[in-house]
Amino acid sequence: MQQPPRFMPDTSGLEIVTEVPERTMVIFAHPDDGELGAGGVIATWSAQGCDITMVVCTTGGSGSNDRAMDSQSIVPTRRAEQQEASRTVGAAHLEFLDHQDGGLEDDRVFRGEIVRLIRRHRPHTIFCHDPHRFEGFNHRDHRMVGTVALDAVYPYARDHLHFPEHIEDEGLEPHKVVQVLMWGSDRPNVIIDTSAGVETQILALHKHASQIGGLRGGPQVGDRLRERAESVAESYQFQYGQVYRRIIARR
Ligand SMILES: [Zn+2]
Repeated sequence: MQQPPRFMPDTSGLEIVTEVPERTMVIFAHPDDGELGAGGVIATWSAQGCDITMVVCTTGGSGSNDRAMDSQSIVPTRRAEQQEASRTVGAAHLEFLDHQDGGLEDDRVFRGEIVRLIRRHRPHTIFCHDPHRFEGFNHRDHRMVGTVALDAVYPYARDHLHFPEHIEDEGLEPHKVVQVLMWGSDRPNVIIDTSAGVETQILALHKHASQIGGLRGGPQVGDRLRERAESVAESYQFQYGQVYRRIIARR
């Protein structure tokens, strides 16, 4: 059977996001997803003083094509790689939720953890996976993270009667996130100039040494990434960009 062509969404005529927020959170399923999805923006924004929190939801314990590797040995490796990669893109905070790779569920426990982190770090902007993708497979963990992150923003983190124990027992306050930007969307509606951050993004991806072989492009992941970032920015005044589906929360 012939390989279907890779789906490429239309990236012309998108709104350009230029505002650098004070605080941003990146929520993702597996070590390296955050750098792939938002590394260029994070590197650009952190250099301009944005306070970045990265939240990795699973251990990444299933992320190996090497049959000699088991989950036990891969987990500490991926944790260390994520720490290096987060430091590289300039993230000030890194949170591990340590769920089982492939085991994320849209349940109260996971939702509560994301709500707590939003209330604690109080981000203006959140980046996460787009859970509503129809072109091609979307990893179950990616769907779960996208769904739970959107629900956590609205209404759970915002309204004090949800997870009241955060407020009564932990001294946290409800928090309104202003916007969510989702990568991997079939229907992007914004683009961000990543020209100042793309090389740092590639450097960060190379910190995930155990995963490089499995990434699209393998050791040439940087070339693939530059190529893609350049093609989406074709009709704009900058060289490299990354596109997102943005949802702005009602005030
Ligand atoms: Zn992933």
